[in-house]
Order: sequence, then structure tokens, then C-alpha cells
Amino acid sequence: MQIKDKTARRIRELPPYLFADLDRKVAEVRARGVDVISLGVGDPDIPTPSYIVEAMKRAVEKPENQVYPSYLGSLDFRKACAAWMKKRFHVDLDPEKEIIALIGSKEGIAHFPLAFINPGDTALVPEPSYPVYATSVTFAGGNVHWMPLKEEKNFTPDFASIPSNVAQNAKLMFLNYPNNPTSAGASKEFFEKAIEFASKHGIIVVHDAAYSEIYTGEDAPISILQISGAREMAIEMHSFSKTFNMTGWRIAFAAGNAEIIAALGKVKTNIDSGAFTAIQEAAVEALRGYDDFVPGMREIYRRRRDVLVNALNKAGIEVYPSRYTFYVWAKVPEGFSSMSFA
Ligand SMILES: *Cc1c(COP(=O)(O)O)cnc(C)c1O
Repeated sequence: MQIKDKTARRIRELPPYLFADLDRKVAEVRARGVDVISLGVGDPDIPTPSYIVEAMKRAVEKPENQVYPSYLGSLDFRKACAAWMKKRFHVDLDPEKEIIALIGSKEGIAHFPLAFINPGDTALVPEPSYPVYATSVTFAGGNVHWMPLKEEKNFTPDFASIPSNVAQNAKLMFLNYPNNPTSAGASKEFFEKAIEFASKHGIIVVHDAAYSEIYTGEDAPISILQISGAREMAIEMHSFSKTFNMTGWRIAFAAGNAEIIAALGKVKTNIDSGAFTAIQEAAVEALRGYDDFVPGMREIYRRRRDVLVNALNKAGIEVYPSRYTFYVWAKVPEGFSSMSFA
């Protein structure tokens, strides 16, 4: 029997997951004894701070944390997330209705279209972007309409250039600021334009804010939920992965419009059984220690960024000037593609 012939189209037609490909290449070269500095996937090399690891050790021993978790996240976890959103962004959220725990934001993103996309529906996805947005739309049977991110627009989509029949039929739009991979930040004015556009056309907005705490300049990124009207059609996903160097732990949350959160909750309730309660307990502790840990980490990223950007500039490589995320978006010299240059 040819198993390959039996695989579903959604698997067969999938572009190769670039990061898996890179991992394989890096492993090959390392096996030959080469010391590789990975400039690939954004996975922090700084360990999870010990105060969080210690909290996890205590949490994992408690029998009450060893049973099936709450589907939506423990109330303690959701309350801590709401309190952090209030302190950080001055947004008031009801922890019971407007917050849901995720097993990493990738999980939330991947499941989200199942709640809103019927086969043939359209979703607006930035290009370039985190591959999960487009793949999850495709898995749900939807069509992706790409929104190019151009330097002249500071790597934000130009809503005016989206054909009106596409805008009219689009059900959902993904946004991500600070942006992977361009490092661009978004202004309040941009978010206002996005909400106005979404509101006019009845489009649900999912803002992926995985890098909201990774910035090395003066201006802290804002939340889309701070924009007036946003709570009528938007949710925002926040992850502990980059903020606390917890990529392996798989914990994040979505916040915003209660009906959208409930719809995502319905999908999740039928697919997974929630995030491990002990990890949620450690995540509560992570938020409690935010002020003691995160500013120091930002300082490390600032120093590293300056080293890399200065060296690239000296080598004559033009870098997009941004102080958001831990990515550097540089122009490939004339005569190369990004692949051939790398
Ligand atoms: C790293 C990253 C995430 C975080 O994913 P988790 O599943 O929470 O680890 C989400 N979105 C983008 C764009 C990222 O780069």
C-alpha cells in the first residue's frame, strides 16, 4: 500500500516547514564539528529564569495540578493575565470571559480558523509572516489573500490596496506587531486604521503580540485592545515564550472580545484538554516577577543588536532601522536571493 497516496491534500500540498528544514541543515553541519551560530528560528538561548523554574518544581508536586486542567485555563492564571494586561496596557478584561489559556500561541493561531473559516472563506494574511497563519487557514479549507508588507509603508499592510470584493468577503485578518520577520513596530494610528477597516467590512482581527515585550528602544509597543472599538471584533495573543524564555513550556493566552474567545474555546474544548495546570501556576509566578527579569533581558538584546547591526553596516549591508523584536531585517546585496546569500 502506498501511504503517500493516502495522505490528505492539506498535508501533501503543504510547503516545506522552513524551520524544520533549517534544523536539519544545522544538525548536518554541527555533526561535522562546525560551530554554528544559528540565525534561524527565534528561540531564545537564555534559560528560563530560575524563579520560574523553582515555581514549576513546587507546582508539579501538587496532586491537584496533576489531573486534567481546566479547558479555558485556571481562574488564577486568567486573573493574573488580566491584571498584567491592565498594568501593562491599561486594558480592563474580564478574566472569566475575555481571556483563555493557550498551549503556546502557535496552538491558538492554528486552531483559530476552525472557529470562523468555512471552506471557501477568505482570510487576510500578511506577507511575509509566521507560516502558521496561512497554514491554519488552509487547513480549515479557507483561501488566503496575501497583504504585502512593504518598506515604504513601514512593513504594515496597505488596506486601501485590498480589492473591495476581497475586503467585503474576508472573514478574518491576522496581524503581528512587533513583526516577525521584519522587526517593524506599529503605531497607534496604524492600529486605528486596521480597526476602522475591519469594522467597515465586518472582519475579525487576530493580533499576534508575541513580541510585545521585546524592544530595545524607548517606546514600548501598544496593545490593539487599547484602540477604541477593537474589543468589538479583535483578540490579541500573548505568549510567555519570548517574554520569559519559555518556548519549550508551551503557555500563552488570548484576550479580547468575549464571543470570539468563546468560539475559540469551543474548538479547543473538543481538541485539547488545556494547558498543564502546573505550567499555568509557574506562568502566574513569571508575570509576578516581570519587572525584576524582563528589563535586564531587553538590555542583553540591545547589546547584541548593536554588535550585529554595527557589523552589518560595516560590511555594507543595509539594515531596516527598528528597535523591536530580536530580529534584524537586512537587505540582501544585489545579485543574490535571500536563500543564496544565506
Ligand atoms: C515565536 C512566535 C510566537 C510564539 O509562539 P508560541 O507558540 O507561543 O511559542 C508566535 N508568533 C510569532 C510570530 C512568533 O514569532
